[in-house]
Amino acid sequence: MGAASAVPGIERTEGVGWAIRDALGTSPPIDRAFVEKLVELFAAASKSRNDGPVMMGVLTCSACVLTRGPDWMTLFDQRIEVRTTTLLVPANTFVYFVSAMVLHAMDAHSFVPSQEFVQATLACETPGSARYLMQLRRAGGGEYVSRVLLARKLRSRAP
Ligand SMILES: [Zn+2]
Repeated sequence: MGAASAVPGIERTEGVGWAIRDALGTSPPIDRAFVEKLVELFAAASKSRNDGPVMMGVLTCSACVLTRGPDWMTLFDQRIEVRTTTLLVPANTFVYFVSAMVLHAMDAHSFVPSQEFVQATLACETPGSARYLMQLRRAGGGEYVSRVLLARKLRSRAP
């Protein structure tokens, strides 16, 4: 802002906390389709919570020195609990274990995910679906999938 004034009646104002993007400089753009898909996956994963990995405790953002990061974010009409939601994204020979805090890291801390992770996310089936479990099995999660299926079986038998 500098020499100009943003407040009528004051000769000179200096702005702080307005043009954050300019202050930080530029970072590579993040593909919107990727973010939309990631949000969709997190939403599905939190709905089929019993199929997903259990998160021990609550994650905070080590880069947010005042608030320790947000509890939740609303993106594409989905409300995601970023401190507790996790997601498994199958790659070819391994599985990404993803915290929803990644959404905050991209939003607030210029975190740019790898192209490999972007591709795996775009190719990921809906958590909870049979196709998703097949993807997990192919990526080396056979034992994990067996446990998920056993847990489902036990739940369906419960009175
Ligand atoms: Zn943060």
